[in-house]
Amino acid sequence: MEDNKKIKLSLASQIFIALVLAIIVGLLMQNCADIAADFIKPFGTIFLNLVKFIVVPIVLLSIMSGIVSMKDIRKVGSIGIKTVIYYLFTTAFAITIGLTGGTLFKGFFPVISTSDLTYEASEATPFMNVIVDIFPSNFIAPMSSASMLQVIVMALLFGFSIILVGDKAKNVASGVEDLNAVCMKCMELILRLSPIGVFCLLCPVVAANGAAIIGSLAMVLLAAYICYILHMVIVYSFFIKTLGGMSPIKFFKEQFPAIIFAFSSASSVGTLPINLKGVEKMGASKEVASFVLPLGATINMDGTAIYQGVCAIFIAACYGISLTPSQMITIVLTATLASIGTAGVPGAGMVMLAMVLTSVGLPVEGIALVAGVDRIFDMGRTVVNITGDASCAVIVSKLESKKNK
Ligand code: ASP
Repeated sequence: MEDNKKIKLSLASQIFIALVLAIIVGLLMQNCADIAADFIKPFGTIFLNLVKFIVVPIVLLSIMSGIVSMKDIRKVGSIGIKTVIYYLFTTAFAITIGLTGGTLFKGFFPVISTSDLTYEASEATPFMNVIVDIFPSNFIAPMSSASMLQVIVMALLFGFSIILVGDKAKNVASGVEDLNAVCMKCMELILRLSPIGVFCLLCPVVAANGAAIIGSLAMVLLAAYICYILHMVIVYSFFIKTLGGMSPIKFFKEQFPAIIFAFSSASSVGTLPINLKGVEKMGASKEVASFVLPLGATINMDGTAIYQGVCAIFIAACYGISLTPSQMITIVLTATLASIGTAGVPGAGMVMLAMVLTSVGLPVEGIALVAGVDRIFDMGRTVVNITGDASCAVIVSKLESKKNK
């Protein structure tokens, strides 16, 4: 046990050292960003590929084994409802913070000419298609294309069926749990490489964007980051303390490795394995975490909602438009839905911004204004996204254990 703890602690500090080194080396390599992109980034990509490789089986099996270990569909329902309410509520809060922050900062935003903007918006999916796309029409395709919402639906259906079949399926139930344990071990092996992964992913981003940070979008980025931080410090701390009964300091301390990983990878789904480990260390129950976190990595995107709020205000300002209160309410609703439809992979939130802009009649081409530094927005919003998931796991665990008592 002692040994185990030592290894985990040292991995967290290794990740931190990798982050600091990546920033220093990245800044030094600003003049040769190509070299960083050509020779350092591929190792980051290898690491990210390995993480992506294990993520589908982990989501499928961990949700299934979470459901199977609850042994009762009503219990799954009770956890599911609490989770979805918390996710929706915090996301609506997040977008409100984003809109308020954007409005307060508006005076400092640059007004960039919009006359020759072009943005290929065809990738944005209409809302009804987002709903239809949740349901798989094929057994293999969701797994091979890593369509996480579909994988979740599969896990729910199979998990419920195993419970309903009961005794006859007890071998399948224990098979799912055993396979889940094997996948978790596999993930642990991959995660040992995370310091190298973090360094190789972040260094090229810093090398390429170092100067852009101080560029014309600095104030917009700053507004978004202030809102990200406020949301985490105020909203999550409040709920962690009041509903989760945990000190926010302890929460953020344990959350740190996942935060660093999310920041460098800009992928909620990729951060899932580290997040699972983190919340278990915080004392969240395994059955709750293995249900709540994979779901959150797919549907709960508070950071993305904040970003959409700030960017909507900025883009509107560049077009000389001031958003009315009713337009802001529309943004709260559409950004909440858009963040559910956002995949937990780099850059997905920017594509969904099109849906938010369209809902209030803003030109979609405006996305081109923020596209250049999207990665920098993305790193921060992913941190918020996964921290929201972790807070939910801790809170729902606590509420469930209270209920059981
Ligand atoms: N990259 C984000 C995530 O994985 C999604 C986004 O682009 O907003 O959580």
